[in-house]
Formats: sequence, C-alpha cells, structure tokens
Amino acid sequence: MAIIGGGSAGWMAAAALANAVGRSMAITLVESDEIGTVGVGEATIPPIKAFNAQLGIDEADFVRATQGSFKLGIEFVGWGAAQSRYFHPFGTYGADFDRVGVHHYWVREHLRGDPTPLDDYSMCWALARENRFGPPADNPRDVRSTHDYAYHFDAGRYAAYLRGYSEARGVRRIEGKVGHIARDTQTGNITAVTLNDGQVVQADFFIDCTGFAALLCEGALGTGYEDWTHWLPCDRAIALPSENVGPLTPYTRSTAHQAGWQWRIPLQHRTGNGHVYCSSFTSDDQALATLQGHVAGRTLADPRMLRFRTGRRTRAWSHNCVALGLASGFMEPLESTSLHLIQTGINRLLLLLPDQGHDPLLAEEYNRLTAHEYERIRDFLILHYHINSRDEPFWQACAAMAIPDELAYKLRHFRANARIVSRDDELFRNPSWLAVFVGQGVIPASYDRLADARPQVDGAAMLTRLRAMMREAAATLPLHQDFIRNACAAPQDVG
Ligand SMILES: Cc1cc2nc3c(=O)[nH]c(=O)nc-3n(C[C@H](O)[C@H](O)[C@H](O)COP(=O)(O)OP(=O)(O)OC[C@H]3O[C@@H](n4cnc5c(N)ncnc54)[C@H](O)[C@@H]3O)c2cc1C
Repeated sequence: MAIIGGGSAGWMAAAALANAVGRSMAITLVESDEIGTVGVGEATIPPIKAFNAQLGIDEADFVRATQGSFKLGIEFVGWGAAQSRYFHPFGTYGADFDRVGVHHYWVREHLRGDPTPLDDYSMCWALARENRFGPPADNPRDVRSTHDYAYHFDAGRYAAYLRGYSEARGVRRIEGKVGHIARDTQTGNITAVTLNDGQVVQADFFIDCTGFAALLCEGALGTGYEDWTHWLPCDRAIALPSENVGPLTPYTRSTAHQAGWQWRIPLQHRTGNGHVYCSSFTSDDQALATLQGHVAGRTLADPRMLRFRTGRRTRAWSHNCVALGLASGFMEPLESTSLHLIQTGINRLLLLLPDQGHDPLLAEEYNRLTAHEYERIRDFLILHYHINSRDEPFWQACAAMAIPDELAYKLRHFRANARIVSRDDELFRNPSWLAVFVGQGVIPASYDRLADARPQVDGAAMLTRLRAMMREAAATLPLHQDFIRNACAAPQDVG
C-alpha cells in the first residue's frame, strides 16, 4: 500500500492502517517537505475522540503534544442577522421531557413571549460562556452528561504526532517530489509513482493524499469534480496566527463578515485566525484588511493565502486509488468537517479493504457511501449561508439561491411545527440542526401537539429548573485553562 502525501490525511491514513493491519502489509508514505502541507485544519468535531481511541492514543499526551485545547462547539457571531449570536453545541439541549423534545416546550414558551434564548438550555453553552471545561459525567441523570467535546490543535504538530506513531509501527516514509505516475495499459490501474530523484514506489493500491493537487485521482486518473460553488460560494481563505489574548476559550468562534466569515481557534501557544471569503464579492486586499482589523493580539506570521473550489471528487475511489483529504474534495471549514471526512474515509476503506488489484464492486460501494455523506454535510453547511437577513450583496445572493430539495424539505418541516426531519446516518443530528435553525432566526409557527396534550408536564417550570441546574452544574467544573494546566499543559515553547 502506498500513501502519496503526508499532511493530516496522509498521516491519519498511515496511522490507522498501521494500527489495523500491523506489519502484515508494507505501508509506504511519500511526502515532500519542500511542497509542505496546507497548514490549516485545527478545529475538530467529537468523533475524532473515537479515531484517537482506536489508535490507543492517550488524550492528555495528545493534547500536550499538539498544543491543543478543548472545543465544546462553535459560537456564531453575526450569522443570520448582523447583530445575532448563537452557539452550536456538541451536546443536547437538556433531555426530552416525557416523550416531547425540550425544544418544543421552548418554542411554545417563545411563541408566548418568553425571551430566553435556546442557548440557555445547552450545557455546552453553560460551560462555554464561562470558559469552563470538564469531560462529561457518565451518569445520564446528571446534567453534566449532556455535553460533548472535540479538540483544537496545531495541524503541523498533529501530523508530526501521527508520523511518530506510524513510523513506530513500521510505516516507511520517503522524502521526495512526485514526478511521473505510471498506469497499466490494460486495466488503467496505477502501477508506480516515480519521484524526481528517480526513486520508484510500486504498490497494488494507492491512497492519494496530495491535497488540492490531487495528483493521482485527478492528475493521473481524471476522475472529475462535482462543483458546489453555486451553493457554497466562498473560494478563498487567508490564515493569520496571533498571540493569545484573554482567557483560553473552550470553543471556536465564527464571525460573519461582509462577504464571508472569520474563524478564531484558541490553542495553548497561539490563536489560529482566518478569513474565508467569496472572491466575486470582495478583493484579496479587502479580505486581508478585514481579517487584520479583527485579530486581537500581535500576529505571529505573514498572512497565508489559500484558494479552493467547494465540491467533491466525483469518484473518490477510482481504479486502484482512493483519494482522502483535500484530494477528495473540500466543502470549506465552517463546521470543521474535513478531518472528520478523512476519518470516515479511512474507516470505509478498512471495511472494504481490497485484495490485490481493483474490485469495482468495492469502489462502487465506497463511492456510494462517500457521496451520501458529503451531500448530507453539504446541506447543513448551505443552511448557514442561506438563512440570513443581512443586507450585504453576498448575503443577499446566498439568501436568494435555490437550495437542494432535501434541505428545503427539512426547512419546511421545521418552519411548520418545529419537527426536525433527519436521517439516522447523518453526521449532524437534531441538536445541530436546531441550533442553526433557531440561531439564524427560523422560529416555527407551531410545535409538537403532545406538549399541550400532557398537562401533567409543566414545561415552563421544567425549563426554568433546567436553566438553573445548568448554571449550577457549570460552576462545579474548572476553568478551561486550569483544566489544561492540570491535565495536559504543553511545554512552554512557541511556534
Ligand atoms: C482555509 C482552510 C481551513 C481549514 N480548516 C479546517 C478545520 O478547522 N477543521 C478541519 O477538519 N479541516 C479544516 N480544513 C481542511 C484540512 O486542512 C484538511 O482536510 C487537512 O489538513 C488534510 O489536508 P491534506 O492532508 O489532504 O492536504 P495537505 O495538508 O495539503 O497535504 C498534502 C501532502 O501532499 C504532499 N504533496 C503534494 N504534492 C506533492 C508532490 N508533487 N510530491 C510529493 N508530495 C506532494 C505535500 O507535501 C503534503 O505532504 C481547512 C482547510 C482550509 C483550506
């Protein structure tokens, strides 16, 4: 097996394969220090904990090695309406009261005039607003069991950490630049990759982790790209790290700007900042000025400019090659889903691991599952752009765009009676949809009739109690920076 490319995708694949098959399969990874990696990709979502656990990685060791911090969700500022703020939490909103979702009671009270924000019923937000963090409790009767978390980390250190893990398990790393890719004239399969220095890397199966270059899947195999720019119109980003200022927040912040949005990712040794924007509505200079004007703290590097086209590789698995990471597509970083898609791509590959050569049936199933996963995430991202009442031309164009049918269907249901129609296999579950719907100003006309049909449940009183319980429970957990200092502080180096 040969992995071409050694960014997060390459080293995640190397680590997971080495862990799964041990030394029974020779695994080679080619990367070029001269070309380097994309250097971003620092916010994650909760399933990454399962990826690390599968590898047997110790959490404290991992957070320490990557200058990491903990993430309870994303605070969205200025999305929906210019002055709005809401939190997309990684947990639930309380627990269901007697069959009926908490949010139905919230909608009822809201329609009756109660101004309490939905965020107040999220344990993640109860912690995040006070910069507190602790892992969730095991006892499901404890309100502190209703939050979940992921990580922020330094992307370069993450790849280095996984490289150490992989090499210790037998993965062979080759430094060099890909020159030529040879294919079998009969089958079209890739037979070898020749590096500029003449080294030849042969394998039965290749994993294309060459990032946006997509050297194997597109360059050699020409698999094609499904362009989603008409739904996800941002096509550029500028990254600009800065010194930490203020407390270490246990969440990512996403702030909407005139033609895009800005990320803020807190790490132990620095803050990651970046501006994702649409080049049809703003210039690079303007975008940079906007970013520089909204970065707190001294900047630590020159701005780094990135270009991308949202969409996905038409066939992530073609012939004897699977594309992972940016080579397989990119939907933009709004909900930190790219590293997750690498993780699920690896899991699928392990489930469908081919023997020598190429079995089109395995590829067909891999591609079917991948397309489905991408499309469900895509719709969730589109929702953020589409539901807005901002007055800039970019946002007005987003509000006016035609959206995919399945998303329109979901919106209709929620608007009518607060029902969240989602499939069991979607990455983003009901609380996520709820957070974005309500956070961006979609207030349902009605709610679950059962909420009124069960007079024994005093919904208003329970909501009040839930809020108080969360506030009290949050106060029992430590400040995020104290939690890190005690459990997983990185050595005091910078860079
Ligand atoms: C602006 C932006 C923000 C992002 N934020 C997030 C986020 O917060 N969360 C998240 O989950 N994801 C995020 N992502 C996505 C994330 O960065 C990527 O999914 C992840 O880093 C994987 O990248 P990669 O390994 O596929 O590509 P890269 O990091 O680009 O690695 C490509 C590898 O291929 C090698 N290579 C390329 N060409 C050659 C060649 N000719 N010869 C030899 N080697 C070669 C390079 O040396 C490198 O090792 C973001 C992406 C962007 C663009």
